[in-house]
Order: sequence, then structure tokens, then C-alpha cells
Amino acid sequence: MAIAPKAILSKSSYLRGVQCLKSLYLYKNHYNLREAPSVLQKALFDRGHQVGRLAHQLFPGGIDCSVEHGWQQKEAVAKTADAIRNGHKVIYEAAFMYSGVVAILDMLVLKPDGWHAFEVKSSVHLSAVFFKDAALQYYVINNTLGLRSFNLVTVDNTYKRKGILSIEKFFKLHPITADVRRRQAEVKRRVAEQLTMLQVGVLPSVEVGKHCFQPYPCDFMSQCWATIGAEEILQVSGLGIEAKLALIDKGYRHLSEVPANLLPHNVSPPQPTAGETLKLRSKLQDWLKGLAYPIVFFDIEFIQLVVPQYEGTHPYESIPFILSTHRIEHEGAPAVSALSMLQPGDHPYITMAVAFADLCKGAQTLLAYDAAAELKTISTMAEYVQETSLPLPVPAPELASTLLQTRHLVKDLRQPFVQGWIKLPELGASNSLKKVLPALCPGEGFADLEVSDGFAAARQCEIIFHQPDGLEKEEAIRKLQAYAERDTWAMVLVWKALVDRVQLAQ
Ligand code: SF4
Repeated sequence: MAIAPKAILSKSSYLRGVQCLKSLYLYKNHYNLREAPSVLQKALFDRGHQVGRLAHQLFPGGIDCSVEHGWQQKEAVAKTADAIRNGHKVIYEAAFMYSGVVAILDMLVLKPDGWHAFEVKSSVHLSAVFFKDAALQYYVINNTLGLRSFNLVTVDNTYKRKGILSIEKFFKLHPITADVRRRQAEVKRRVAEQLTMLQVGVLPSVEVGKHCFQPYPCDFMSQCWATIGAEEILQVSGLGIEAKLALIDKGYRHLSEVPANLLPHNVSPPQPTAGETLKLRSKLQDWLKGLAYPIVFFDIEFIQLVVPQYEGTHPYESIPFILSTHRIEHEGAPAVSALSMLQPGDHPYITMAVAFADLCKGAQTLLAYDAAAELKTISTMAEYVQETSLPLPVPAPELASTLLQTRHLVKDLRQPFVQGWIKLPELGASNSLKKVLPALCPGEGFADLEVSDGFAAARQCEIIFHQPDGLEKEEAIRKLQAYAERDTWAMVLVWKALVDRVQLAQ
């Protein structure tokens, strides 16, 4: 029987069907109803492509059988068949079709004993879903060409760059042939189930549940969950998905309906008595009094580069990229802003260490919001400047010692909210700066910025690092600088609001 185009499975549609048959049906028949991929998902997709292309260097000199558009599957299969017929021993993006399923493999390599498959993942860990998709690829390719082995290739985050990038050390090989062979009966059963469902053409009846979130959040949630109306419960932070679903099963739809003992402490803290309120206020007051002038509010924007571009860095290391500060010299003085950004040719740890030491010179208090990443970076910069052989503008011991001294001055502006010294009902389960700012300072926020959250900022970083010079890059730099500057200005406003509240209460 001829297979209708809608009833052709790819690796991603097969995985969708394994997660939920209804999702597969909707994807094939009502594609436009799905939620568009987020900025983060797009960035992960681009990252996967970038790493996949880099992995080609493990087996250089191959022929690329990729096609321009995902729907040109038949062309890709024909190209691959030609490449095999013409005696190519290394094939990139090799495409095969078997029994209604198309599989595209990153690298196919012919060795003296036969064909070996290599599928690249930009991750550093092997996840359960990788084995499922590898088993499908093995099913298709082994049944058309025959395979001696199947291997996953991941990123090795223990690799530290020294000189030029070592492709062999950057990637890690995982032979998983025995595992994918064990899964063949299951793959065959699931493929038959999915193809039959698509050919019958009736929407499967599937209740919502844990499978809507795992292994991936389903992009048809707005369809299936709309009638349930439990968004508030689903968004509670600090509760696992099982606990959230248990609350929904019990009939709760809004946070206000849920008994306090079923919620995490940060969502529903017990209301303090009048005596406790006084005690909490005095703790906040003491903490604020301990912030001596000059005060520097600082924030570092990071980029996680999968492929380490800088000497001494690892895959996925958070690289400091922009340092934003607002400085107040003494009580009543204005907050003066400054910004330092990594430039082409700079080493991030050296440039940022020098900028940080300079911008924080003479400060008695350094305030960051959620300071863990900043504290770690200050330590990393201090270590790096001591061990590097690259030239430094200041003697290494002096710079390292300045960094370590300033590290002791760092305080976390999130502390009053984490400790519960100040309670704002508007915050709900979150005490992020984006929530705290408008709650304490009505009318202030990030909404007027083109980049207004961390995901969008990460996307702009990707553009700056991976796009050629030009307008798009200039725009990304401008948007990111505005975002970084707003972050530290927001901290100034939050600090001022806390000081005002304490003074008013006296
Ligand atoms: S939201 Fe849940 S039930 Fe609905 S299609 Fe997605 S996974 Fe299936």
C-alpha cells in the first residue's frame, strides 16, 4: 500500500509519537495549531547544527548529502544512494527510507568490515531519549544498508582548550550497538502503531498527564490544557511535575484554593505575627546598614559557548561577556553607570578581571542580585590570571589579590527576599529581579526593552558571537548593552525602595 506523505515518519515525528500519539496526529494534521518554538529552542537547534557540522572533522573528506529543506526527503535519500553507489566512504547527513520512516544520520563511515553509524549530540550527557532515536535510526539504516555499529558522539566538557581546538578531545564516542539492537522489536511495534494511527486518520483520545512535559514540553499544550485551566498550578516553582499533577487531579485550579501545607514554603509562607514582623524588619535594617559606601551594583552577562573559543576554557563554560555597574559614592550621590564589554581578540577572563578591578576600585560594598555566578566568576578570573602565560596589563599577583579582596565585599541583594525579611504578596513563588522591581517600584520594569529576559539576552549573545559583522550584530550589541545597564539600574531602584521602606517604618 502506498504511504501518504502525512504518514511518513521522521526521527522527530516518531519521538513525538512515542511521547504521545495525539501529539503526532495533531502535528501531521493540524500543524498550525502548535505553539511556535521559543527563542531558546531555536538557539538549541542552531547549536545542534553547529556541533554536528564540527563533528564532520572526525571523519574528514566526506560527501554532504544534506538538502535545503526538511521536506525534500526523497532527494536526500536519492543523493545518499548515489553517494554509496559512487563509492564514497564517508557520508554526511546520510538519508534512508524504510517502511514509511525516514532517518537522517550525521555521519556514515565505511570501514573494511562494513558501515558504521555516528550520530552527534551537542549535549555532554547521554539521555534516555537519545537511545530511542538512535534505535529508530538503526532500524531504518540497518534494514536498508546493514550496519556494523551504531555510535553516539557527545561533547566532552572535561576538555580544556590549549592552542588550536582538538576535535578528537572535544568529542566523546559512545558505542551503543548492543543497546539499539535490543530495542528493535519495540521500534518495529511503535512504528506500526504510529503509521496505522496516521492512516486511519482519527484523533486518538489521550488524557493530559506527565507525558505532556516529558521528555519535552508538548507544543500542543494550549489545545489540550486550555479546558483544564490550571496554568497557575503548573507555574509554581519548587514543585515537581508529579506534585503539580497531583494537585490538579485533586481538582485545584488556582493557587488560592490549595491548602498551604501542600505548597512549597516560598509560595505560601505563614503570615508573621506583629512581633515577628518587627524582628524581620530589624534584620533587614541591620543588613542595609551593613552596606557601606561607596556601593557598586554590578551584573555580569554570560555566554555559554559549546565550542570553547578561548584558551583555558571548557565546552559550555559560562564566559563573562558584559560587565555593567552603577556606583554610588556616598549617601545622596547619584548612581553613575559604566559598562565594559568583551571585544574581538580579548581574553574574557583577563579583560573582565581588569575591568572589574577598575570599576570596583575603592568600593566598600559590591551588590549583585543572585550573586552565585558572579562570585564563581571572580574566583575563576583570579585563578586564571595567575596561571595564564598570556600578557597582562597589571602584574598577575596584584590583579589576583585585588579580585579576591573585592570578592569578600560582595553581598547579594536577593538576600532580603530569600530570607523573608520583606514579604511582597505580588511576588508569589518568585523573587527574581524582574518580579521584585515592579512589585517594589510600580511602573518600573524591563518591558520597554527589546531584550527583556535572560533567554532573549542569550539569543543576542549567540548573534554577537556567531554572526558576521554587520547591522544585525550591531543591533544585538545595542540591545544587550541596554539590558545589562537596566539590570544594575533595577538593583539601584530595589535597594533604594528597601531603604525607604525601612526608614518609613521607623
Ligand atoms: S498536550 Fe499532552 S495530551 Fe495533548 S497532545 Fe500534547 S502530550 Fe498529548
